[in-house]
Amino acid sequence: MKCYNLPAKPSALIFDMDGTLYTHAEYLQGQIDGMIRRLGQVHGKSFEEMRDAVEEYEKTWARDHGGRKCSLGYSLTAFGISLDEAVRWREELFEPGRYLMEDGELKKTLGLLARDYQLAVVTNNPVLVARKTLTCLGVADCFPSEAVIGLDTCRVVKPHTAPFIKAAELLGAPPAACVSIGDRYDVDLLLPLELGMGGILVDGVEDVYELPGIFSIA
Ligand SMILES: [Mg+2]
Repeated sequence: MKCYNLPAKPSALIFDMDGTLYTHAEYLQGQIDGMIRRLGQVHGKSFEEMRDAVEEYEKTWARDHGGRKCSLGYSLTAFGISLDEAVRWREELFEPGRYLMEDGELKKTLGLLARDYQLAVVTNNPVLVARKTLTCLGVADCFPSEAVIGLDTCRVVKPHTAPFIKAAELLGAPPAACVSIGDRYDVDLLLPLELGMGGILVDGVEDVYELPGIFSIA
């Protein structure tokens, strides 16, 4: 875990979902592979050919953007997939219930944090998938329903400032009182930090369990 620019008095915590509120390498890789397979079908390429093409695009993008990484959602738009289509694919392909189960430790952690902070989720998955995921983890009621911000809320893909600004507005907090928490610096932290938010880079949900300690909550 690594902390950046933490505010003296934060009031809102904005969580990434995948790889942050749960750790499940097989499910995470399955999401990426499923989208690449579907993209390959559209472009008449095998899974391997499509994966190589996406990797090549992402390498070039990183080279042109000072080494920053883009998200798969971002790459899909470069391969001609509209946001509505990407939302539909994700809704069709992703079944969190096949991989995730209730996480009592996460529920306890978020319950502690919710006493002192407003909580939101900002994810590149659609709201429908986000809600299913939070329900599987047993933490759906830890977030106000309007504060689950997905790909189809602002209709942009992280990395982008819009969903973070939206989250701050919904939670009634200025950016300087918000902390973005996620597992990918370039996707979850870089732009929030530029907005004046704090950031916490986690390796997975195990680090999220430690957050009450970071914020000195007993
Ligand atoms: Mg993530």
